[in-house]
Amino acid sequence: VDSGAQRVLAGLDPEQRAAVTAPAGPVCILAGAGTGKTRAITHRIAYRALSGEIAARHVLAVTFTARAAAEMRARLTALGVGGVQARTFHAAAMRQVRYFAPRLLDGRAMPELLDSKVRLVTLAAARAGVRADRAAARDLAGEIEWAKSSLVEPTEYPVAAAKAARDIPYEAARVAEIFAHYEKVKRSSGVIDFEDLLRAAVWGIEEHRDVAEQVRAQYRHFVVDEYQDVNPLQQRLLTAWLGGRDDLTVVGDVSQTIYSFTGATADYLIDFSRQRRDAVVVRLVRDYRSTPQVVGLANAVIGQARGSGSRLRLQLVGQRPPGPEPDLRIFPDEPAEAAAVAARCRQLVDTGTPAREIAVLFRTNAQSEAYEKALSEAEVPYVVQGAERFFERAEVRQAMVALRSAVRSTPGETPLVPAVVEALTAVGWAPDQPPAGGAARERWEALAALVQLAQECASARSELASPAVASEERAQRATPVLSPIGEAGVAERQMSLADFCAELQRRAAQQHAPTVDGVTLASLHSAKGLEWDAVFLVGLSDGTLPTTYAKTVEQVEEERRLLYVGVTRAREWLWLSYGSARSPGGRARRPCRFLPQFDRSGGGAERTGGPAVAGRRAERRRSQVVSCRICGATLLAGADRKLGRCPGCPSDLDEELHARLREWRSRVAGAQKVPAYVVFT
Ligand code: ATP
Ligand code: MG
Repeated sequence: VDSGAQRVLAGLDPEQRAAVTAPAGPVCILAGAGTGKTRAITHRIAYRALSGEIAARHVLAVTFTARAAAEMRARLTALGVGGVQARTFHAAAMRQVRYFAPRLLDGRAMPELLDSKVRLVTLAAARAGVRADRAAARDLAGEIEWAKSSLVEPTEYPVAAAKAARDIPYEAARVAEIFAHYEKVKRSSGVIDFEDLLRAAVWGIEEHRDVAEQVRAQYRHFVVDEYQDVNPLQQRLLTAWLGGRDDLTVVGDVSQTIYSFTGATADYLIDFSRQRRDAVVVRLVRDYRSTPQVVGLANAVIGQARGSGSRLRLQLVGQRPPGPEPDLRIFPDEPAEAAAVAARCRQLVDTGTPAREIAVLFRTNAQSEAYEKALSEAEVPYVVQGAERFFERAEVRQAMVALRSAVRSTPGETPLVPAVVEALTAVGWAPDQPPAGGAARERWEALAALVQLAQECASARSELASPAVASEERAQRATPVLSPIGEAGVAERQMSLADFCAELQRRAAQQHAPTVDGVTLASLHSAKGLEWDAVFLVGLSDGTLPTTYAKTVEQVEEERRLLYVGVTRAREWLWLSYGSARSPGGRARRPCRFLPQFDRSGGGAERTGGPAVAGRRAERRRSQVVSCRICGATLLAGADRKLGRCPGCPSDLDEELHARLREWRSRVAGAQKVPAYVVFT
């Protein structure tokens, strides 16, 4: 065997090695978070490629996020293997459908992909005589997504929904009707949704022998990461790709199934080894990612989980040297929590932790805003993960449609910027009236950014050869007050509107994530598979996590798994917190029920081993109240107690920060609420 292949085996434990060197055929790795599943499949691909068993270009590695795909490619390149197709199901389907579209659509252009169902669902509901507000439309869109991902047709919906105990806002027959209308409305607007894209990929293979042959000749060896979160539609696509072959490696963790609300199920993972008797099954328990302290908390969180798959769960055994204890904190309100998290991020960055090694994770994207604000005030760079990219934003797409139609009606010699302004005004943009806030403001900013791009294009045509991502990022984030719009028309070197549209299209195609080094702000859902040195799990109040929408036992269990995913993202530092009230002086909320340490009643924690002990210890400490002299938080234990401040409060405060912290303290005193700060040692 090639020495490169041997090198790939170094740095793997015996179980991982068994998975990596298993012969062609079904392989299943079942293991908890941080045990090296992703590492094992990456090394398996590299090992087989370097030993000459397979050609890298014939491998399709399916990952859960684009970021995970990029990481896998980078890792493979570092191991000396290039050309592997590492993609999400959607990206792989998109590529396939695009490629075969001219043949399958008789030369018609590929339909545009719908990024959100909500607008069409609202229309469909109206046709069914239902007036759905935004929240209801979102619920309905979720139902349709679930049905389509579960291969359920509109007529089958009522039975399937009852069987799956779906919690729906309307009668099932009503939802089915709206679903049917949605399909019609969608078809007549000539767009497709994400599920249609996967269906088209399946259909292409199942109905066209030549397409099937070509696709299968390309993809011969399959790897699926995060297999516990595959839905029936994705499974069907995988089956279509395989076409009866079995060179498939799947890896997953039943404790990390967090997408079942969209139709994903761990059943395929659970059944894999049962249905394929010749499968090599590997279990991993050594956790290489996190400190024993983090691993201990993860085990405690998931140890009480109920439901299917519990049998497959193994306690993680931490391999790393001990580190700091996880922090669990309660703040008087959300702004105070965000400010403290930002201050702690600042401190970490100042003491040498790269900002990209820090993440702030939350349950819903709406929680992001408070942290964006707090981090920018603390001057900590950050990146919002999964934020809609500029050219994918609904208003920008709409504007591009307007610009394209303007191209047809605007004479070539009209200066670019006024032409752009005019086209955008036609879709409701007013040049110098930025709305006060909210969605209208965002819309205004997006369109203003387009005008700014037009300005840049008009005055600096020569720079266009190097599309500056930075400028897109700036355009995206800036709050441009476009004073020079009036004069911009006189720009000397002019580009035509048609050229500008072509340029926009080119940039849209090239758009990729900014490579800014910043703290990651992400939802728990999108953090799957990733890891950071320091992780802040914020907003952990009951009602946020678990969300109030989680009503059935299964839904609550999914929320618990979500917390498990969050906890296991941390290598070293882990901070868990919530703001007691939403805003200063607001109604107090209860802590997340999955964290016994937060539970001041003590009762619930007594039933279990580890957390019960931690709970009792915490109880004892709670009786010795000392306050942080800076923010007023109650210090219950920990080294910093001697200093009279909590670790979240920097010792070398600048004046402004100090004043802000003092202000919280007085606010806290005013509301007669004392935040608690707990350190477990
Ligand atoms: P998740 O369930 O969160 O996706 P995972 O099981 O895929 O986790 P990996 O991301 O592959 O885990 O690995 C977690 C961390 O442990 C990575 O930093 C990886 O490089 C490291 N690691 C994995 N295996 C080993 C090993 N045998 N020796 C040292 N480090 C390892
Ligand atoms: Mg992984």
